[in-house]
Amino acid sequence: MLTVSGYVLIRTQKHPHANAKGYVREHRLIAEQMLSRYLRPEEDVHHINGIKTDNRSENLKIFKNRAAHTAFHFCRKETNETVGTSTEQVNKAVPGERDGENGTVALAGQLILI
Ligand SMILES: [Zn+2]
Repeated sequence: MLTVSGYVLIRTQKHPHANAKGYVREHRLIAEQMLSRYLRPEEDVHHINGIKTDNRSENLKIFKNRAAHTAFHFCRKETNETVGTSTEQVNKAVPGERDGENGTVALAGQLILI
């Protein structure tokens, strides 16, 4: 069964967030399995590939609230729209993130000291 917005609905016997007819959106159930707890009502689940019926755990990303989810969409949209005009900005952002994550900035500093 699909919702009007294209999400898969699953009928459950007992679920704190089921609707009046006993249905829960499948991607929320999968997210709950990933977390081993029930999702809070404000927590929001995103489909990474944009396909609302693809509820594999690797396709789901859990946001702490709707605002964080919306912000994520907004940022991605803006990046997509500005690829043509601000490629430089996009290219700069990626190595910056990698430096931070891998600690290569610190390594480079050590090399200079040696
Ligand atoms: Zn989303």
